[in-house]
Amino acid sequence: MVSQIQAKPGIMDIALYQGGKSHVAGVQNVVKLSSNENPLGPSPKAVEAAKTTLSTMHRYPSTDHKSLRTAIADVHGMDPDRVICGVGSDEVLAWLTQAFAGPGDEVIHTEHGFALYRIGALAAGATPVEVPEQNRVTDVDAILAACTNRTRLVFIANPNNPTGTMIGSADVARLADSLPPQAILVLDGAYAEYVPGGDGGLAEVNARENVFMTRTFSKIYGLGGMRVGWGYGPRHIIDILNRIRGPFNLSLPALAAAEAAVRDQAYIDECRAENARLRTWLAEALAAQGVPSDVSHTNFVLARFKDADEASACNTALESEGLIVRAVGGYKLPYALRITVGDVSSCQRVAECVARFKSKAVRS
Ligand SMILES: *Cc1c(COP(=O)(O)O)cnc(C)c1O
Repeated sequence: MVSQIQAKPGIMDIALYQGGKSHVAGVQNVVKLSSNENPLGPSPKAVEAAKTTLSTMHRYPSTDHKSLRTAIADVHGMDPDRVICGVGSDEVLAWLTQAFAGPGDEVIHTEHGFALYRIGALAAGATPVEVPEQNRVTDVDAILAACTNRTRLVFIANPNNPTGTMIGSADVARLADSLPPQAILVLDGAYAEYVPGGDGGLAEVNARENVFMTRTFSKIYGLGGMRVGWGYGPRHIIDILNRIRGPFNLSLPALAAAEAAVRDQAYIDECRAENARLRTWLAEALAAQGVPSDVSHTNFVLARFKDADEASACNTALESEGLIVRAVGGYKLPYALRITVGDVSSCQRVAECVARFKSKAVRS
């Protein structure tokens, strides 16, 4: 008998999330290059700060996150009252769809956009609308052409995951200024810190009432396991999101770690420089083997192969050597592999493995 207990429409259209793998059976010396984590880990100051909270874990954490919001605002030159902190930026993205989109509403995301935009739209009962990119780059005109009077949210990651590409601030401004009046532009800045001098769209947010930015501590800050992200936007949007935010959504160690991490910008500068150096090295080593990639503005490289079969065979070769990268067929990029820029030795292992794979392919 079919149960009468059923999920709301849209929920069962959500495919279960497949996270990056971290183990290979029978292989030693495994490195995980599938989730865009910082290979250098967090600032030692963040680890210390989290430890000092452990003796007071019987106390509830702060509900207004004032100390963390102030630290974030100080570092970025923002108004702390326009910052909201979530359990990863995932939570902030989920609040946006929950608060602004429902049945009959449309939520735009791009062709190779982050999976959570579609999931969030479906979870809220809204309709996700996928817009083509142009050669793996966000296409502002295509997005504007897809807008209707039902469009409530437009999500773009800038730089984007899994493509690594980005659009400039003039394009972002043009998109924001041309949206229908009921729509919010969400700039997901998960990789903003990797862009030298980049502000993740701060200037665009500050100048408008319809632009919102999300950021995370999971990537360059190396705190993925702590689950802290934040949003910054117009007061009227922050006020709405605060009504659905759980009062104690962030734990004591998470708040302390994030605050210490954001105040240690010297460490972030080091991570940015090291990532840029190794990313260039890796992209060039792969290109020399006939595996090109678009210029990446992130901590990963989207390596392109001849076709889906070659990408999948190379993925198997990498995995057999304990190198776990991300197949991105689910992002409509079956011919590519997304490879996180690891430490020196991981980058070398990837380059050597791909070289061996390619030379075998030539001989056979
Ligand atoms: C990793 C990532 C996020 C955020 O993750 P959280 O860990 O939830 O902060 C958001 N958007 C994109 C595009 C990402 O790649």
